[in-house]
Amino acid sequence: MRPSRPRVAIVGYGTAGQACAILLSRDGWGVDVFEQSETTGPVGAGFLLQPVGLQVLWDMGLLDAALAHGRRIERLHGETSRGRAVMDMRYAQLDPRLFGLGMQRGALFALLDRAWSGVGAIRLGHRIVAISEDGRHVRDGEGRSHGPYDLVVAADGSASRLRAVVGRARLDAPYPWGALWCLVPEGRWPHRTELRQRYRAARRMIGMLPVGTRPDDEVPRISFFWSQRRDDHARWLADGMEAWRGEVASLWPEIAEHLAGIVDPGQLARAGYRDAVLDDWRRGRLVLVGDAAHAMSPQLGQGVNMALLDAFVLRAALRTHARIDDALAAYQRERQRHVRVYQFWSRWLTPLFQSDRDVVARLRDLAFLPLGRLPGSRGQMLHVLGGTRLGAFGRLRLSSAFLDGLGLRTRLG
Ligand SMILES: Cc1cc2nc3c(=O)[nH]c(=O)nc-3n(C[C@H](O)[C@H](O)[C@H](O)COP(=O)(O)OP(=O)(O)OC[C@H]3O[C@@H](n4cnc5c(N)ncnc54)[C@H](O)[C@@H]3O)c2cc1C
Repeated sequence: MRPSRPRVAIVGYGTAGQACAILLSRDGWGVDVFEQSETTGPVGAGFLLQPVGLQVLWDMGLLDAALAHGRRIERLHGETSRGRAVMDMRYAQLDPRLFGLGMQRGALFALLDRAWSGVGAIRLGHRIVAISEDGRHVRDGEGRSHGPYDLVVAADGSASRLRAVVGRARLDAPYPWGALWCLVPEGRWPHRTELRQRYRAARRMIGMLPVGTRPDDEVPRISFFWSQRRDDHARWLADGMEAWRGEVASLWPEIAEHLAGIVDPGQLARAGYRDAVLDDWRRGRLVLVGDAAHAMSPQLGQGVNMALLDAFVLRAALRTHARIDDALAAYQRERQRHVRVYQFWSRWLTPLFQSDRDVVARLRDLAFLPLGRLPGSRGQMLHVLGGTRLGAFGRLRLSSAFLDGLGLRTRLG
């Protein structure tokens, strides 16, 4: 049973760890956060928050602060390097009140950081490497033991070390493709409410996602994404920036001015992704959240949203069930139902956009747009995009109060 002031150790201070820290603190848990980095802060450029993620922020009372910095995204548009449309989806086709939100990683990080009153209690430079047999203590890389805790939340990301403590993964492998990404000034970019992508077969993919501002920087920016095979990075470096610029300009001349400030390869962060599928997300008092539980390719733009939902559902389960074991079982059941279909689709869709398979890319160019226009499949695709697909045919319902709130904010502009 739960003590009157239960204690939780949260391992990792990314989105999943931050959201758990806020929500569990608000419910009276004593929270200790362990973060391996010496400083807190996000890595990478920007991301797209989907309606499901926005609903969690709304429930946390943070939606307006997110909207104040992010860019409202109404449309996803992908085309070939010759300008032929491959994908064209609008959230409003699902519900006129819906939209996505492009955000800088730094903006969401700062928002969540400010919302947690216990920030001073983060133990930086603490890499957690093991959990005690009874699951109540965590051990850091220097051999120090911390605890006891009533619950240990592993939010240590896609390369999670604690995943292996829970059990054998059904699948845990890196993708052969990754990306280079960075923030560039928005300037006079004409597509401020759209995620725009350009493809040459599946070998090249460029993304331009407007992500607005962040608290310490008022310049609106775009998250620039350049797909790259992981084993092609050394060649890319050796060829030099001029060769790369030439290639970008031949694929998408309109973006060249936005990339003018990128003069050094070090300005582009390198991202790799993993696929991790586990039958169990918990063992004793240890539970996985975020990418630690379900790493996947970012092709469907869902990871941050899933991390927020994990924290939300975990908190709800801990409220409902007196026994922590029952709460963790309920959390796993509910979240796996939602996540599995996204893991499935991201695994199947990624090679359509990041691979050497030219025939597959040609089929994508022929089939994607017509499919997205058929009334039945358009709704299915939009639900996958918005994060509301549940199982093969079900739907995760968004609260009507949240939808009305979004609609009101849309009308107010
Ligand atoms: C190129 C790219 C584009 C993406 N685009 C989108 C998008 O548009 N929309 C979207 O929703 N998602 C997107 N994602 C996915 C999203 O970034 C991740 O799913 C999300 O950040 C996962 O959050 P997390 O908190 O689980 O993990 P992380 O953010 O990785 O946080 C893990 C934290 O744990 C710490 N840590 C790790 N190991 C230890 C340890 N042993 N001890 C202590 N601390 C530790 C790390 O330092 C880190 O701070 C994208 C990802 C990539 C790579």
